[in-house]
Amino acid sequence: MADYKYLIVGGGLSGDGACRGIREHDPDGSIGLFAEEQHEPYARPPLTKSLWKGKDENTIWKETTKLGVDLRTGTKIASLDLDAHTATDDTGETHSYEQVLLATGGTPRRLPSAPDDVIYYRTVDHYHRLRAHVRDGARVTVIGGGFIGSEIAAALAMNDCTVTIVFPGAGIGAKLFPSHLSSFVNEYYRDKGVNVLPGEEVAEIGRAGDAGFRVVTAGGRSIDADAVVAGLGIEPRTELAEAAGLSVDDGVVVDEYGHVDGRDDVFAAGDVARFPAALLGGTRRVEHVNHATTHGRYVGANMAGADTPYDYFPYFYSDLFDLGYEAIGDVDSRLQTVEEWAEPNRKGVVCYVEDGKPRGFLLWDVWDKVDAARNLIGAGEPITSETIRGLME
Ligand SMILES: Cc1cc2nc3c(=O)[nH]c(=O)nc-3n(C[C@H](O)[C@H](O)[C@H](O)COP(=O)(O)OP(=O)(O)OC[C@H]3O[C@@H](n4cnc5c(N)ncnc54)[C@H](O)[C@@H]3O)c2cc1C
Repeated sequence: MADYKYLIVGGGLSGDGACRGIREHDPDGSIGLFAEEQHEPYARPPLTKSLWKGKDENTIWKETTKLGVDLRTGTKIASLDLDAHTATDDTGETHSYEQVLLATGGTPRRLPSAPDDVIYYRTVDHYHRLRAHVRDGARVTVIGGGFIGSEIAAALAMNDCTVTIVFPGAGIGAKLFPSHLSSFVNEYYRDKGVNVLPGEEVAEIGRAGDAGFRVVTAGGRSIDADAVVAGLGIEPRTELAEAAGLSVDDGVVVDEYGHVDGRDDVFAAGDVARFPAALLGGTRRVEHVNHATTHGRYVGANMAGADTPYDYFPYFYSDLFDLGYEAIGDVDSRLQTVEEWAEPNRKGVVCYVEDGKPRGFLLWDVWDKVDAARNLIGAGEPITSETIRGLME
């Protein structure tokens, strides 16, 4: 039985961030990092971006073991005994800890009764599987018009695949972008050769030919493909927490320090954690890289005694061909917007408002303004066009 001061469940970016936070305050305490994947922690954003633009795969690894961490790859923690302070892995081995962190992230939503070789894109292994299909003219159908679907469709089109993207909404990114912008992105993708099929539910995925697929939509379209990739969002991996009787509400519920249920020996961080969002009020669960790394780091530091509340609100970003943005706050197309464009649909700022006050900002081809936007949300003053234009200067 291994004996750790800190036991971290999950070898993603929040697990890596936690190791860094711990080491800032405790250079020697033993850390056991359990990763179900066969790999050390790595950055996920390159899997839909830079790796498709020729960047070397060696750049994604976080090199967490350099922090003096006992990394157990390919090892899933199957259960926790909170009273005994032990975690049992899927080989039956039991490990003791003083403090445990749940950094278990999320698992991609799946389509019911689809073939097993549909790629629910999230990991470096999925990247390798998809890469194996990529050759000139390879037909790939992407299901989902959100972050993963839109990014991977662009990446594949840039690698000379014949890409179809299918989604039920009106446009790519429609949950975030105002409708005119989402329509513009649809057309932008079409200009790049992508077959964009909005307003279409997938009814069935069957076989066509030896290893091919036939995707049939509820609207009666039939699309043959060599590979099918789905980006349907994730479900937080709360099963360990639930089985241990911890508070779960679409995520493991934590306080501003990352404690679960007020316990000083159980923490959660990253995509799996529902945390109090001081900036916006209420609680949030955020599935973005800036949150995973920063929250992981704060919570890891708190495990090692830092006692620092997570009063930061994270931003997020995405690249769609050569379009790109950073965003912060409640970026939700159901909210009212006030927009200022230096060039329509190319460079501008969308402010999402409630009662005239800013709740979120979409900084479209506007860079390094996240802190200013966060301050405007925090100030809670009614927003003016002049203030929004100021973010483009
Ligand atoms: C392809 C891709 C591209 C992205 N691009 C962007 C981007 O451009 N911008 C942005 O803001 N965000 C992006 N994100 C989101 C961002 O990468 C995630 O928010 C972040 O990686 C989440 O980190 P995490 O550690 O909380 O969770 P995860 O990454 O889900 O890691 C959790 C890990 O824990 C493991 N695990 C779960 N349960 C157990 C267990 N019981 N025992 C052991 N291990 C376990 C899982 O296997 C997993 O490896 C992207 C995500 C993906 C998938």
